[in-house]
Amino acid sequence: MRDLRPAPPAAPFETNARLELAERARALAAHHAGQGAEEVLRTAMTEDFPGRIGLVSSFGTEAAVLLHMVSRIDPYTPVIFLDTWKHFPETLAYRDTLVEAFGLCNIQTVTPRPASVKADDPAGDLHARNPDLCCHVRKTLPMLASLRALDAWITGRKRHQASTRQGLSLFEAQDRWIKLNPLADWTPDDVAAYFETHDLPRHPLEAQGYPSVGCAPCTRAVAPGEDARAGRWAESDKTECGIHFVDGKMVRGPLPKG
Ligand code: SF4
Repeated sequence: MRDLRPAPPAAPFETNARLELAERARALAAHHAGQGAEEVLRTAMTEDFPGRIGLVSSFGTEAAVLLHMVSRIDPYTPVIFLDTWKHFPETLAYRDTLVEAFGLCNIQTVTPRPASVKADDPAGDLHARNPDLCCHVRKTLPMLASLRALDAWITGRKRHQASTRQGLSLFEAQDRWIKLNPLADWTPDDVAAYFETHDLPRHPLEAQGYPSVGCAPCTRAVAPGEDARAGRWAESDKTECGIHFVDGKMVRGPLPKG
């Protein structure tokens, strides 16, 4: 008799290169466990990935911390800013303020391909109809292109930011890159203390109820007591922003462990 039961899920396939990268991420996490963010960052930039690591920054409300740290280690480190053409003007102004204040010398502003936007989002309202495709066109594809010359990139993600980031590791493997999250275990108090100690400028929208700032159409102010990222894609189950991907495809929710 024919067996009509559903087939078991296929075993995950991993190439040797991916397995080695995942092993490297675990080894780096073990090696740097217990070190402070600046020490991890300095070692990653000068010893682990010299000349092959960049910072991806949204120039959001907490971005100044890593931008400041990176500028003090090597101001020529590539800083990749994805200009989706949907940012708040306040974010663009804040970017310019921080670049000048910190003396950052290698800002790489990456945009979507005009032809892709014309084809997929001619009216500029794709974010409302299909935010995943919008993020794919405006973030994921430009991001993949901008990382070509790098082996590793630095993110500002932290465990406290959302329930979906509770399992965040210090180092992760993703596609062919290592991702470093030097602030993974930082709390809001740590961030506030760093801002205060170094007298860093604040994002202009923060005081207006935006603890997390992304593209203007997909960000709203949050109410007191709400998750800091509750204002991002508030009407959707989407939680990640298009710069985190697997197999070149955007991840919209919690990331698989690397
Ligand atoms: S955050 Fe919103 S506007 Fe920005 S790329 Fe994604 S869907 Fe589009």
